[in-house]
Amino acid sequence: MPAPLKLVDTSPELPEAADAVVIGGGIVGVFAAYYLARRGMKVTLVEKGRIGAEQSSRNWGWCRQQNRDARELPMATKSLDLWERFAAESGEDTGFRRCGLLYLSNSEEELAGWARWRDFARTVGVTTHMLDSAQATERGRATGKPWKGGVFSPTDGTADPASAAPAVARAILKLGGTVHQSCAARGIETEGGRLTGVVTEHGTIRTKTAVLAGGAWASSFCRQLGIRFPQAAVRSSILAVSPGAIGLPDALHTAAVSVTRRADGGYTLAISGRGRVDPTPQQLRFSPQFLPMFVKRWRSLAPGGLEGFRSGHETLARWRLDAPTPMERMRILDPAVDKAIMRLTHSRAFDLLPPLKNTSIAAAWAGYIDSTPDGVPGIGEIAAVPGFILAAGFSGHGFGIGPGAGHLIADIVTGNEPIVDPRPYHPNRFRKSAWGKVADF
Ligand SMILES: Cc1cc2nc3c(=O)[nH]c(=O)nc-3n(C[C@H](O)[C@H](O)[C@H](O)COP(=O)(O)OP(=O)(O)OC[C@H]3O[C@@H](n4cnc5c(N)ncnc54)[C@H](O)[C@@H]3O)c2cc1C
Repeated sequence: MPAPLKLVDTSPELPEAADAVVIGGGIVGVFAAYYLARRGMKVTLVEKGRIGAEQSSRNWGWCRQQNRDARELPMATKSLDLWERFAAESGEDTGFRRCGLLYLSNSEEELAGWARWRDFARTVGVTTHMLDSAQATERGRATGKPWKGGVFSPTDGTADPASAAPAVARAILKLGGTVHQSCAARGIETEGGRLTGVVTEHGTIRTKTAVLAGGAWASSFCRQLGIRFPQAAVRSSILAVSPGAIGLPDALHTAAVSVTRRADGGYTLAISGRGRVDPTPQQLRFSPQFLPMFVKRWRSLAPGGLEGFRSGHETLARWRLDAPTPMERMRILDPAVDKAIMRLTHSRAFDLLPPLKNTSIAAAWAGYIDSTPDGVPGIGEIAAVPGFILAAGFSGHGFGIGPGAGHLIADIVTGNEPIVDPRPYHPNRFRKSAWGKVADF
C-alpha cells in the first residue's frame, strides 16, 4: 500500500535542453533541483513515477543529528537549518518542526553508548541532553513505566513525509524549473566521455550536467554506464494509527518500538532497524561488501522473498535506450508489508504506550531502504563521466539530510564553496571490490 502523499503538477512539455537534469524526485533530487534553480540555472527534474512516492514518503520523518555517524553529522546539522530556511524562502510547508527527539532505555550498555556520542557531539557544538532515571521517567510518562535513562535532543525535529518532497517540487516550479512525472530517464549520452544529454522515455534533453538521485534504482542505472556502485535494499515496514492518543511524545525511540506524531495527528509505529532482505542478483554480486553489515545486524534483518527480484530495481540486466526499461515497468516501488513485523510492532507499541488504545490502525506500508556497505551515501561527480553526479545510498537516514545533500550537490555542480566537506561522501571509495579489483571510474 502506498503511504499518504500530496500531489504535484507535472510541467506540460519536456524541454529540449537544460542547464541541469535531475533524475529522481525523492527528497534528495527535489532539494538538489531546488538549490540549482535558486542559483539561476534552468533545471529539469524527471521522475519515473510520482514525486516522493518511494522512500521519501514512506519514512518516519525524523530529521536528526542524534546518534549520527561522524561523517554525516555536519550535513545533518546544516540540514536542520535548511529545513527551517526553506519554509521562509519558498512559502511552502514541509511540516518541519524542531520538536526534539526522545530516546529512552533500560540498558546500561545502550545508555553508555549514547553518553559517548553526547561527548563526541559536544566537540562539534551539537546539543543533546542525557536524562537520568527521574528525568527519563518524567519525559516518558506516557509509557507509565520507570526508565533507567535516556536522551533528549532538543534541536532535532521531524518533517512530514507526505508533504515534504511535493512542497519542494512546487518551489522548483515557482523558480522556473520544470518537473516531469511518469518520465523515466533511461540513460545518458556522452561525447568524448563528457555528458551531453539525458535520454528519457519521452525524448532526450541536451545538458552538460545530470544528477542521479535515483534511490534504490541508482546502482542498476550506474551499471549501464560502467560505474560500480554497491547498493542493497532492505524492506522496512510501518504501521500508521489514527489520531486520538493524547500525551505521547512527538518522536520517541525505544529498543522495542518507535513512535512519531504525523501531521494529521496520528502516529507512525515501527521497530528501528527491523527489516527483510529480499535476495536479488545485485545483492549476490555485492554480498562480500555487505557481509559485515549484515552480520552486525543479523538479529534485526531476516531473509525475505522473491519480490525484490521481481521489482527489477536491482537487476543486473543491460537495457536499451530506445525501448521500455525496468523503471517504466515499475513506476513506484511499493513492496509488501511484513505482516509478522506489523503484528509485533502493534503489540509492542500498544503495550509501551497505553494511550494508543484510543486509536485504530489507519494504514500500513513498506519501503525499500537503499544502503551502501558503510551506511553513508555516495555523493559526487564521477570522474570517468564528467558532468554526471551520483547521489544515492542514503542508508535509511536520507530524509533528514535531504536539504544538506541537495545543497552539496548544487555546490558541486556550480563550483561554490561546499556546505560541508564533500570528501567523506565521494562514491570513489566504492571503486574497489571485495576481491581487490579497482573499477575504472
Ligand atoms: C520505512 C522507512 C523509514 C525511514 N525513516 C527515516 C527517518 O525517519 N529519517 C530519515 O532521515 N530517513 C528515513 N528513511 C530513509 C529515507 O526515507 C531515505 O534515505 C530518503 O528518502 C532517500 O531519498 P532519495 O531521494 O535518495 O530516494 P527516494 O525517495 O527513493 O527517491 C528516488 C526517486 O528516484 C526515482 N527514480 C529512480 N530511477 C529513476 C529514473 N531512471 N528516472 C526517473 N526517476 C527515477 C524513483 O521513482 C524515486 O521516486 C526511512 C526509509 C524507510 C523506507
